[in-house]
Amino acid sequence: MHPNLDITKMATNRTFTMIKPDAVEAGHIGGILNMINEGGFRIVSLKLTQLTVADAKAFYAVHAERPFYGELVEFMSRGPIVAAILEKDNAVEDFRKLIGATNPADAAEGTIRKRYAKSIGENAVHGSDSDENAAIEGAFHFAGREEF
Ligand code: ATP
Ligand code: MG
Repeated sequence: MHPNLDITKMATNRTFTMIKPDAVEAGHIGGILNMINEGGFRIVSLKLTQLTVADAKAFYAVHAERPFYGELVEFMSRGPIVAAILEKDNAVEDFRKLIGATNPADAAEGTIRKRYAKSIGENAVHGSDSDENAAIEGAFHFAGREEF
């Protein structure tokens, strides 16, 4: 097989993000997209959309048994989000570094969550945690013709 067709290599270059409802409500779409650009990520796909309750439940199904699951589903479906596919070498890991710790109190200086997150629950952005999940999450929101 031609090396450029190796899907495992292609996948490491992409991640998926959401600007969460708290950050959209607070007017931080532009600021966060600017930090994404400054961080060296190329925007492959981008849209303003909203998760249904069912979408949010499915998206965070891994947390279904956690005490905050209900609150998380309500939060993530309460208003519009920005969904995006991003490209960069080592995208998943580097984007997790750029967004910072889940709890903004623990997030490093210069991270998106340090600047824009309000709390551990309302923490401004999502970043995929693996290449496999990045591909699944991106494909949920975008058709092939919306990837540039
Ligand atoms: P995300 O998956 O959204 O990128 P994360 O990977 O940093 O965040 P996870 O452990 O996957 O963190 O948790 C998913 C989301 O659930 C968090 O981003 C946050 O919105 C919410 N959450 C996590 N822990 C708590 C908590 N203790 N209390 C309230 N909400 C929480
Ligand atoms: Mg996560």
